[in-house]
Amino acid sequence: MSDKWIRCIECNEVTHVTDYDCSPQYQCDEKLEEVIEKPMDDMRNFMVQHRHHKIEELSRIKDSFISEGAYVEPLKVSYFEATNGKERFVIKKWRDDINDPLQYELISGYIKTTISLEVQLDEIRKQLRDEIKHPSITETKIERFIQIIEKVASQFSAGDKIEITAETDTPLISYCKMDTDFTREILRLSEEIFSAEELKEIEQFIYRNNNDNEPMTLLLKRAFTIEEENSKLIELEKEESHLDKVVSQRTY
Ligand SMILES: [Zn+2]
Repeated sequence: MSDKWIRCIECNEVTHVTDYDCSPQYQCDEKLEEVIEKPMDDMRNFMVQHRHHKIEELSRIKDSFISEGAYVEPLKVSYFEATNGKERFVIKKWRDDINDPLQYELISGYIKTTISLEVQLDEIRKQLRDEIKHPSITETKIERFIQIIEKVASQFSAGDKIEITAETDTPLISYCKMDTDFTREILRLSEEIFSAEELKEIEQFIYRNNNDNEPMTLLLKRAFTIEEENSKLIELEKEESHLDKVVSQRTY
């Protein structure tokens, strides 16, 4: 998929620059029993429609893709950012029906993302019981250990460097690694709970289970809103943008 878009500055509309713009799509007409050609040249149509208008090229901003739907969901609405080098835009992409072509809408603004981190409580409990057995760690100590992890995880801020270690089937949830500062802090606070022997086991447990989607990694959950910059546009599209925002603010 190309990362280039053409924007009509006067109409504020976009079309995607694709490799397939010149290839027609063939469809079989069952009644006529023959193959008919269905023109697919969206870009050429766009260029004809806006031929007397000023146009410009937009490039997609890397890693800005976000959507409520799973990656494989064909009818999901998704958003990403694009720029002409000076201004930032949001391109909304969707299709109404699986057989319909993709539709795009240009929004002047940006995608505002908020993140929250969740400790994999049940997975940690289960893994501790499975891995540390001779002797095992008491349930009280496990619960206190989990409280420490939650406390340390709550100190993460948006500015902290977060390393994504695994993705899920939706862009709204990923797994991320606890960095060395956080694991050190967990171990420091754990000194109050565990004996020296247990602490060694816990330290190894953390390092063994802090990759991919393993129990010590955190669930990184994203929520997003589309922030529009043009107040006139907000007035005109109040109904629709309000709906978009309500949908977007749902957290998963
Ligand atoms: Zn135009």
